[in-house]
Amino acid sequence: MRRLGIIACFLVLATGPAYAQKQRVLKPGWNLFSPQQDVQLGKEAAAEVEKQVAIVDNRELTDYIGGIGKKLASQPEAGQFPYSFKVVYDKSINAFALPGGPAFVHTGLISAAENEAQMAGVLAHEISHVALRHGTSQVTKAQAVQLMFGLGGSLLGGGLLGQLAQLGAGLGANSLLLKFSRNAESEADLLGTRIMAKSGYDPVEMARFFEKLEAEEKSSGRSIPQFLSDHPSPGNRVKAVEAEIKLMPAREYSKGDTARLQREQGIVKSLPVPKKANTDFRNAGNPATARPSAQTKQYRSGGLAFSYPANWEIIQQGQSNEITVASREGIVQSNGSAEIGYGAIIGVRQASNSDLEQSTKDYLNQILQNNKTMQQSGQRQRSFQLSGAPALLNVFYSQSSYQGQREVDAIITARHPQGLFYMILISPEAEYSHAQGAFDQMIQSVQFAR
Ligand SMILES: [Zn+2]
Repeated sequence: MRRLGIIACFLVLATGPAYAQKQRVLKPGWNLFSPQQDVQLGKEAAAEVEKQVAIVDNRELTDYIGGIGKKLASQPEAGQFPYSFKVVYDKSINAFALPGGPAFVHTGLISAAENEAQMAGVLAHEISHVALRHGTSQVTKAQAVQLMFGLGGSLLGGGLLGQLAQLGAGLGANSLLLKFSRNAESEADLLGTRIMAKSGYDPVEMARFFEKLEAEEKSSGRSIPQFLSDHPSPGNRVKAVEAEIKLMPAREYSKGDTARLQREQGIVKSLPVPKKANTDFRNAGNPATARPSAQTKQYRSGGLAFSYPANWEIIQQGQSNEITVASREGIVQSNGSAEIGYGAIIGVRQASNSDLEQSTKDYLNQILQNNKTMQQSGQRQRSFQLSGAPALLNVFYSQSSYQGQREVDAIITARHPQGLFYMILISPEAEYSHAQGAFDQMIQSVQFAR
């Protein structure tokens, strides 16, 4: 009997995992706003956005995007919010949805989609942020105390956005309503997968599109498309979506009507350029909010270790050999893309030459070519040792992503077993005295594995 018991036990263990694989329950997080307040806030914010961007009024194009959006929003996972979909004339690759349902898609994103399922994927992802109420949940977490005193319901009469703006949580440069956490990103990918699947679109195309943007960001250097700065990669998006698909009943998936998408992309190309095109409705932020803290955290991966300010985070796009270290406030919206205004970029690239001086020269020339406002600071190149390897420091000035400011770019290069190690330390000139200590500390802490 005893023996049988043990065998039975093994059987349960062996079959256990099949039962354990269940779909994650996704529910909105802690929120001091009511769903009605989400709707009201979204209406006010949408009115503000529409004053500042150019809404496309081409009937065929708006019907097309609206049609895909409606189909996705009719799935039960999207909740009961009054969704709407508008096209914004803007060549940057972006889309965003405000609390309660108003969604906006840039023409640049429509042009970048390879098939209709990718276009639908972005909308399904945005719808998921709305359904899970991520925007107001983030404001709740950041401003709980003030909100508990302010949001008693008396505010329902109007002006919710104005009150949030006073708390610094409105549609400002680093709006909590639009910049999501990695955790919110995973959730929106998961719920987006379910919405896509039920609408017949291949959910993997959603993840594939995001990973494509990540790969393009990597090859373009400093500029991150606004979409990626608002929706930071939770990593391995395609794998996560594939895992979720396995938990759902098998279905036939489609990439949608590609011929139709191509026709709409043709319409995008022929749209007249509106007067107020590509205005960024979010202003540049205040660099002081991005200042490094004195506490540090450790980074250790792929043979590289260093410490960095505890209030900054590591932003790594895809499988890139390059990482950005900055606070969210250090990433500045500038003409539809996001740029590092305060922080560091660290990576290893192929060395053009075995001589450090020569490969550094080639690398700096390349940077100067891509950044037209960059110029020598007049400071002489300095040589020193970085983790026991010969290293060089060069300092440049350029135009800061923060409006009207000059930027200091300290560029360190060093010999590395895999090529040329580089570290670009970026700060507005007026902030340099606040940044210098943290930058020195980062440099001194660098260690290469050997
Ligand atoms: Zn997102």
